Amino acid sequence: MTEGRKIAVVGGGAAGMIAAIFAARRKNEVFLLEKNEKLGKKLYITGKGRCNLSNDCLPEEFLENVVSNPKFLAGAIRAFSPDAARAFFEELGLPLKTERGGRVFPQSDKASDVTKALAAELGRLGVQIFLNERATGLSLENGAVNAVLAESGRFACDAAIVCTGGISYPSTGSTGDGYRFAQSCGHAVVPPRPALVGLETEENFSSLQGLSLKNVSLKAEYRGKTLFSEVGEMLFTHFGVSGPLVLSVSSLINRLPLNEVKLTLDLKPGLTDEKLKKRIERDFAERGAKAVSNALGALLPARMIAAVLARARIPAGKRAAELSRGDLLSLVGAMKRFSFGIKCLRPTEEAIVTAGGVNVKEIDPKTMQSKLVKGLFFAGEVLDLDAFTGGFNLQIAITTGYIAGNHA
Ligand SMILES: Cc1cc2nc3c(=O)[nH]c(=O)nc-3n(C[C@H](O)[C@H](O)[C@H](O)COP(=O)(O)OP(=O)(O)OC[C@H]3O[C@@H](n4cnc5c(N)ncnc54)[C@H](O)[C@@H]3O)c2cc1C
Repeated sequence: MTEGRKIAVVGGGAAGMIAAIFAARRKNEVFLLEKNEKLGKKLYITGKGRCNLSNDCLPEEFLENVVSNPKFLAGAIRAFSPDAARAFFEELGLPLKTERGGRVFPQSDKASDVTKALAAELGRLGVQIFLNERATGLSLENGAVNAVLAESGRFACDAAIVCTGGISYPSTGSTGDGYRFAQSCGHAVVPPRPALVGLETEENFSSLQGLSLKNVSLKAEYRGKTLFSEVGEMLFTHFGVSGPLVLSVSSLINRLPLNEVKLTLDLKPGLTDEKLKKRIERDFAERGAKAVSNALGALLPARMIAAVLARARIPAGKRAAELSRGDLLSLVGAMKRFSFGIKCLRPTEEAIVTAGGVNVKEIDPKTMQSKLVKGLFFAGEVLDLDAFTGGFNLQIAITTGYIAGNHA
């Protein structure tokens, strides 16, 4: 951890800005190259413009929410925990608040305030920022980085921190350049995959498009093993399914043969089969003269009723009082076990995060330095790290940025 070195940071997203701040606080001469016309373009759209920048949880709980390579982060997240990250932002003059599920946001509900706070600190520390400056490669000498090559020329440095992000939402600047830099230095890159993304289903759900379900349970099974089973929200879309439960599932199944993954929706997770049957019988006793599609109105949204009846092979116009015991059991089954197959994940460009990236086996988890090239560091989504929603992905960028900045 020598001071007074020249440190190049490539990428001005969350990881890059944090890395530059901590490298500069150690009295190094730091400069940052960002190919966009401004810093934090992706940060601006996070959390629907409100930026869920962290999660108020302990390191152990944080690690449970990391999907790829949580062990790699075990030491780092203790070195710069969600607690420490919150204190850091508050010290920068950015008041925060915590919402449902520990989600941390700026009090102003403005993602732009996060970038403003970081940019102000970069300015205070004298970090030189080159906007519209695309790095094109790294220059090495004797197994160590000695410059970042960019469109406008060569930027000599003693160390370089690559924070170029993944390949999701490429219009924000993350187009996989860091993967190419890593590969040119001999690093392995785990093939990028979409994570936190919608799923295209075998079945066409266009009649349900736009329907959002709350308090349903979604189970994902692979070869008979349950990978995921949680209660929450999901959404039917023009391509299949999305929404919080589905996004989480996508991160868990993106390495698997999808034709072997089965999803099962339980529309009434609070009721056992028996209780649901009794509830339907009670409703039908009161509304026996009505068509079954109307009689189910208190239990399900109208469009879902049609889909459930189709699966139970019950004509929507049949009178509720005329349902046989077999019909009732089919109805319960269709509501409790609404299963469907997956065709594919939506593309990585549409994914909230990119799974895969620079193989962490070749990175020192204590410093974020390459084990292959001296003075080469990585931080943020460019690494093979990804997590569930809730502020965990930005916390990964913040923590790895802090570690890389401190050690570069
Ligand atoms: C719609 C959306 C909402 C999200 N919401 C949340 C949320 O609320 N909470 C959460 O935790 N996570 C959220 N995420 C995920 C989170 O935004 C990312 O994980 C995080 O921003 C990654 O930070 P990063 O700094 O590693 O990469 P990025 O933010 O992608 O930054 C990389 C930067 O590097 C620059 N760059 C790339 N190549 C070059 C080059 N060759 N030369 C110079 N510069 C280069 C890019 O222009 C970019 O500015 C969301 C993602 C999306 C897409």
